[in-house]
Amino acid sequence: MLAKLFQPFNRLGQESGSVPGTGIGLVVTKRLAELMGGAIGVESTVGKGSVFWCELDEVEEPHAGEEVREAGEAPKPRLPAGAHTATLLYVEDNPANMELVRQLVSRRPDVKLMTAPNGTLGIELARAALPTAILMDINLPGISGLKAMKILREDPATAHIPVVALSANAMPRDIEKGLAEGFFRYLTKPIQVKDFMNTLNEALEFAMKSARDGR
Ligand code: MN
Repeated sequence: MLAKLFQPFNRLGQESGSVPGTGIGLVVTKRLAELMGGAIGVESTVGKGSVFWCELDEVEEPHAGEEVREAGEAPKPRLPAGAHTATLLYVEDNPANMELVRQLVSRRPDVKLMTAPNGTLGIELARAALPTAILMDINLPGISGLKAMKILREDPATAHIPVVALSANAMPRDIEKGLAEGFFRYLTKPIQVKDFMNTLNEALEFAMKSARDGR
């Protein structure tokens, strides 16, 4: 049966079994591994067990700065001279996204980044530090980013802070719903550097203008 293992919709005798599934997990995993120049396989001994293995090339960590230059991005927007330093709170459980945003935000010396790994801590930090703007992952451990945003919007202390959603696999319906429920903007992963920097700037300018207008 090993030859059939990586074929789509082939569940090797489980078709009529009680275990739910579609039989595409290994197929998708194989495709992903191969798209990254890797390989996947299995060794099996009847009655004993199976060893699945996956090999991937080691690569150097990408640097956000280089990505930006390659994309020919215009110089990053700046806050008006004399503006106060802004604070951005990023609520995110994925270390890779966290690192990318850290690198991007470091290009704005006027913006200080704070981070929280889940919605509950994000809300606590927002209430304590009152950041200028918040960047919110949607799929978080514990409460979702949507729920966290709603809690912040309902709290008079934090209701004025623009919250930008950052989500993988967002359907147009999710984006509409998120904006209708109170997100300032809705960005999708993978992060598009130019969109990200522009949206960050919009959110910070919005918050600072609101503050100047005496909110
Ligand atoms: Mn997440």
